[in-house]
Amino acid sequence: MAIERFTFPLPDIDDPLTAPFFAGAARDELLIPRCDACARYVWYPSERCAICAGPLVWTSVSGRGTLFSWAVVERVFLPAFAEQVPYVTALIALEEDSSVRLCAYLVDVDAAALRAEVPCAVEFRDLQFPTVAGVSVRVPMFTVARRQ
Ligand SMILES: [Zn+2]
Repeated sequence: MAIERFTFPLPDIDDPLTAPFFAGAARDELLIPRCDACARYVWYPSERCAICAGPLVWTSVSGRGTLFSWAVVERVFLPAFAEQVPYVTALIALEEDSSVRLCAYLVDVDAAALRAEVPCAVEFRDLQFPTVAGVSVRVPMFTVARRQ
């Protein structure tokens, strides 16, 4: 089946399951679903808690975490990404619950110097592609946290 949504590869911010995530990002707020019954964070978003089937509440988190894994993307598979390579994608284990691992761009980093478990911090940026002119989506990206 062909992918026909005209804003591809931007994320679908209207999907009811993930719309609150993108609404939070538009306010520079990182929201993760949390079970209202057992208090577990639930990622990826779903209708109910996978453990106790309790209702989920979108909950603001710190945006701090550690680098769980990453990949440096050097080859272009879609024309939309031609101007981005090389770029780094990462799994960030969140401070509130390290089993919650967000897949995100890792920006402003020296890819060769990355090490597992380095502290990272969220940084909201507008995601845009030259193939989808005039449209952007604010998303959480991450960068290596500066030492305090
Ligand atoms: Zn639960």
